Amino acid sequence: MHVMDTLHTCIRGGRVIDPASGLDSTADVLVHGAKVQAIGDNLQCPDDARVIDASGCIVTPGLVDIHVHLRDPDTSGHHEETIASGTAAAAAGGFTTLCCMPNTTPAIDTPQVVAKIIADATAAGHAAVSPVACGTMGRKGTELAPIDALLAAGAVGISDDGDGIADDAMMAAVLERVAANDSIFMQHCQDPAMTVGAAMNAGDLARAMGVGEWPAAAEAAMLARDVEVNRSIGARYHAQHVTCREAIDVIRAARAEGQPVTGEAAPHHLLLTEEECRGGNTMAKVNPPLRTAADVQALREAVADGTITVLATDHAPHPGQSKARDFQSASFGMTGIEFCLPLYREALVDSGAISWSRLIAMMTIEGARLTGLDTAGVGRLQATGRADLTVIDPDATWQVDPATFRSKGLNTPFTGRALRGRAIATIAGGRLTWSMLGDRAGAGIEPVA
Ligand SMILES: [Zn+2]
Repeated sequence: MHVMDTLHTCIRGGRVIDPASGLDSTADVLVHGAKVQAIGDNLQCPDDARVIDASGCIVTPGLVDIHVHLRDPDTSGHHEETIASGTAAAAAGGFTTLCCMPNTTPAIDTPQVVAKIIADATAAGHAAVSPVACGTMGRKGTELAPIDALLAAGAVGISDDGDGIADDAMMAAVLERVAANDSIFMQHCQDPAMTVGAAMNAGDLARAMGVGEWPAAAEAAMLARDVEVNRSIGARYHAQHVTCREAIDVIRAARAEGQPVTGEAAPHHLLLTEEECRGGNTMAKVNPPLRTAADVQALREAVADGTITVLATDHAPHPGQSKARDFQSASFGMTGIEFCLPLYREALVDSGAISWSRLIAMMTIEGARLTGLDTAGVGRLQATGRADLTVIDPDATWQVDPATFRSKGLNTPFTGRALRGRAIATIAGGRLTWSMLGDRAGAGIEPVA
């Protein structure tokens, strides 16, 4: 470790984008140990520095994903993912910081589980992990979790993700504790009574396939209820994986009133429609479901106008056998943290919805601010700040190939999709956690993590 601590890395000539400070210009970045030493033109690099040629590349703060399922701890024996495999996959996607969801076995509802996840991620060394802990014990919606203690142990948000909190009084009690701690509540917006047996978006295709229908109203109804319950409480509230125009309308109206409401979008909802499910393609089964082309368009517009401020993958690994079933009984979820960057690029930058700079903001400082991680320097790239950064080749062309995944979860509907743009180096705390630099002529640098 001592060697790593004294090592310099010099990243030469990239387009350095730090949305938090408004920086967007060609510069060098010099890393010393776990800190950024300097950002500027023609920096003097020590003789022992590892030099990365970033010409033609974008250099950004280390990417942040506030919605990931690491499936760890796991006493169920499914072994869908581990902290080590999930964070290694994240590093390959350009990420240095993750927030993991609490639908583990056991659930993240004790300070001990929170502390263990943080420690295990630190030991694995691929990316920092900050847990999002339960609002209710076991995510069952009936008994309040020890929210104060969970946050004190290092949780950076509260959610029962996998399920929404349906009971009005329980929702109010959770929001009260979240507000008292100035933390954030992240809701999986799904009215359970409206989604009994639901498997995909409600409509003609679901009926033709003979599978359970999931109306957009089931998402918007819980979101609207939450806005009302929270009106007198004023907790910071975040709608996870927003999919439909109806839900966007609720968020937009709440924000127009000055309510502390935010929302996130996942890559699949920004690119795919329910048509992917046709023929019983279980890889396209996800919770909440893929919607219509009009919803995809509405989601992109919501990103463009600032109604949706965060991009998050909802990376959700599942074992192969749970997808090798009929559509109705197959598991919900998709992986994607390793290749989300080019998918966001396709959906949002290539479509003209937002700029590269805004895309990077939505993948760094926006999520960091939401979770309070910005106060620890996460989501920023600045001199004397933490050496978390990502080098992106915006023109690298490749394709989604599960055989190359670091994640144990191979469940994605994007297999074979052509991609443009890729993280070619990821540095977390000054350590190279992902590198494709050896693939570039003359670079020859191997990852050390
Ligand atoms: Zn969810």
